[in-house]
Amino acid sequence: MIPYGRQSITDADIEAVEAVLRGDWLTQGPAVGAFENAIGQICNVDHAVSFANASIALVVACKALDLREGDYLWTTPNTFVASSNCALHCGANVDFVDIDPITYNLSVDALRYKLEQAERNGKLPKIVVPVHFSGASCEMEEIRALSKKYGFSVIEDASHAIGGKYKDFPVGSCEFSDITIFSFHPVKIMTTGEGGIATTKDPILARKMKRLSSHGITREAVDLSCESHGQWYYEQLELGFNARMTDIQAALGVSQSKRIRQFVERRGVLATRYDGLLSALPLKTPTVLNHVKSSWHLYVVRIDAETCGRDRRDVFDSMRDQGVLVNVHYIPVHLQPLYKRLGFAEGDFPEAEKYYWQAMSIPLYFDLTEQQQDRVVNALAKAIRK
Ligand SMILES: *Cc1c(COP(=O)(O)O)cnc(C)c1O
Repeated sequence: MIPYGRQSITDADIEAVEAVLRGDWLTQGPAVGAFENAIGQICNVDHAVSFANASIALVVACKALDLREGDYLWTTPNTFVASSNCALHCGANVDFVDIDPITYNLSVDALRYKLEQAERNGKLPKIVVPVHFSGASCEMEEIRALSKKYGFSVIEDASHAIGGKYKDFPVGSCEFSDITIFSFHPVKIMTTGEGGIATTKDPILARKMKRLSSHGITREAVDLSCESHGQWYYEQLELGFNARMTDIQAALGVSQSKRIRQFVERRGVLATRYDGLLSALPLKTPTVLNHVKSSWHLYVVRIDAETCGRDRRDVFDSMRDQGVLVNVHYIPVHLQPLYKRLGFAEGDFPEAEKYYWQAMSIPLYFDLTEQQQDRVVNALAKAIRK
């Protein structure tokens, strides 16, 4: 069996976790700060706040930007449900912007058009969440220009994209956004088991997010409403969560982060190799724009029944029968029953829907060998020929 993605764990990773288990702190110890520093360095950004997972980091980021009832958050339908659920958790409304048919990322043209309409209806978004699908950054400079024009905040959902670049900037630098979120789930580029992080250039937002990750509680003298009663004293200033990362997770993260360049490079080499091997097959392979360096979380092929002779369902089933655990990213979020109950319907975002019916993610991960990759390609050729 070849999975579509999986973690790469070394003896050094295991030793790093073991050292935490033998030490004094299982959570809230030194590893968390060390991990936040390591990610800050990778992203060339001053502030990084770790979380139990990226989904809760998205919720906290929205709360830190004061998203509330009556507000709108916009994102792409071609994403995992967490990118939009964060708004619902704040009691806010969600809307979507259709995708670009080439990159499968949120379309800047569609965003511009929707903003013009929203301005007329008085329904502009408070937050837009571009998702760097498959590891390739959205057009952040254009999105930032629109954010300044229309006054919305930007949270990059970079769950797929650590180690990637947009123009000269590492994803996570927040050069064109307020906050960037990364996920460290085992299928992503690097892992902490479960885990996430939020990066920002803004020290106030960073402090707010840190506080919200710990019940909204502070011990910092400057934040207290009255003089401290003593060393035990803390105050709860707002309603937060326990959304903290443990030292066990963070130690794994520090160890993994040392290999981030290797991870991304190897994925890039494998992706280029797929491009070559698949060029003879009637499939559409991914397109990455020149000024973007993808971290290659996913390698998605598009199967158009008309040019291919087989539809995606046939090819998918045949791949699974042959022991290749392909997957589909993503079922458009607006077609989930929860979102249909909120008023969305088939046909609302036609590019994302058309893409969905043709998309298939084939295996791509650090430890994938060339022989395994050849097996995937042979299985694909057979699935199409059958
Ligand atoms: C994985 C993922 C998330 C959620 O990450 P978790 O760490 O599993 O909570 C959010 N958005 C996208 C685009 C993802 O791929």
